[in-house]
Amino acid sequence: MRRRARLTAAVSAACAAVLIAAVPSAATGGATGLRNGIRSGVGAYEPDPYFPLAGNPGYDVQHYDLDLDFTPATHALVAQATITARAEDDLPRFTLDYSGPAIERIQVDGRPAAFRQDGQELTVVPHDPLARGREFTVRVDYRGTPGPLDDPALGVYGWINTDDGAVALNEPDGARTWYPVNDDIRDKATYTFRITVPEGVTALANGERQSERRAAGRTTATWAMNRPMSSYLAMVAIGKFRVDRGTVGGIPDITAVDPAGDGNLAALQTGTAAAVAFGERHFGRYPFGSVGGIVDRIGVDYALETQSRPVYDGRPDELTMVHEIAHQWYGDSVTPTTWRDIWLNEGFATYAEWLWQEEHGGPTAAETFDRLYATPAGDPFWELRTADPGRDDIFDYEAVYLRGAMFLQELRRTLGDPAFFELLHTWAERHRYGSVATCDLRQDAERIAGRDLGPLFHTWLYTETKPALTALAPH
Ligand SMILES: [Zn+2]
Repeated sequence: MRRRARLTAAVSAACAAVLIAAVPSAATGGATGLRNGIRSGVGAYEPDPYFPLAGNPGYDVQHYDLDLDFTPATHALVAQATITARAEDDLPRFTLDYSGPAIERIQVDGRPAAFRQDGQELTVVPHDPLARGREFTVRVDYRGTPGPLDDPALGVYGWINTDDGAVALNEPDGARTWYPVNDDIRDKATYTFRITVPEGVTALANGERQSERRAAGRTTATWAMNRPMSSYLAMVAIGKFRVDRGTVGGIPDITAVDPAGDGNLAALQTGTAAAVAFGERHFGRYPFGSVGGIVDRIGVDYALETQSRPVYDGRPDELTMVHEIAHQWYGDSVTPTTWRDIWLNEGFATYAEWLWQEEHGGPTAAETFDRLYATPAGDPFWELRTADPGRDDIFDYEAVYLRGAMFLQELRRTLGDPAFFELLHTWAERHRYGSVATCDLRQDAERIAGRDLGPLFHTWLYTETKPALTALAPH
């Protein structure tokens, strides 16, 4: 399903001044001094343009500790979420995003707190107001049967119950279906998952498994993600799994498949290892402490690049694994500041597929580009803005994935191979674990190229017409 792109500004606050100066047709406004975080010097808070209800002003989460007791037979969850955050303002009250099972109690720094739920906004009133700069903890106890969101444009996501367990796939704003969260794509945090399930059931999550304990017929597995993670990339997978633990280039590699599905553990491990090696060659050092993949029977018909360990709904092909592993650099480690810039995830991951094909006897990236570029002007293929497709079209395959990758191929042709491949490394290294906007990419590309690339970025990313090819400067 498609709709016309909005005609509002495509300006990221992070480097608004540069874009305003260089892209005359982009409307000004919205510049607040906000930089790669949720706070500006004057306390201004700019909600995400596509998901304005997700994310909350006034505090910065450092860590989520999620204690989840889940029974697959009934899909019942008994949970405690403990959030460690820093007040960025004086807070007599604050809000979290939450639309999960019923809350039993909330404590702030160990003292009971009043709370109120209004849609997805959970307002918490601490016993004593929190002073700016203070680190505090919020503990939320809740229980019930979580379920997914089913969005007409974005599909099914969030907490998804399966016949033998559950899988959580949050992108874009589904984290709130299973834990209270500051669901702002910019507010990255570390995570601990402590998941208790009946014996014989396996619980997996992002990162590395710290311990496993058995007591009274139940098993508790503790997983830790020790690198900053955006909430849309948090994941748990519970069910019957065959698990393999190996290493890829010295990195722990944990892969798992549902034995009742069509997943092939050896193929998953081989494909993941090859994709990681390919990524390290082209994008630089792998950004996380472990890697892997999970194949389950979920029924959503997509894969998701959950941090350090993608989840696949059924057996993935080679290119799908390359795509999801490439996201570990582009998306998970280097993350858009707003959802408007999701092409920075999908364009790069799709381009990784083209590069892989180029190196493995398939078409070159230039040939793939040429085939797509033959699409006539006026075709809906060119209709949306790649760098501002609109909330309902963030997963538009043509505008965001294919045209995002086409732009990168045109950038490669313009810069030449050495500069382009340097840019791929620089982008991953310079912004590791950070938040970025399209204008940051432009700045990095211009620094490497030593010239203005404004018209190239503007034509390919911010217009709704078929771009003319760049006339290449003589060498
Ligand atoms: Zn993707």
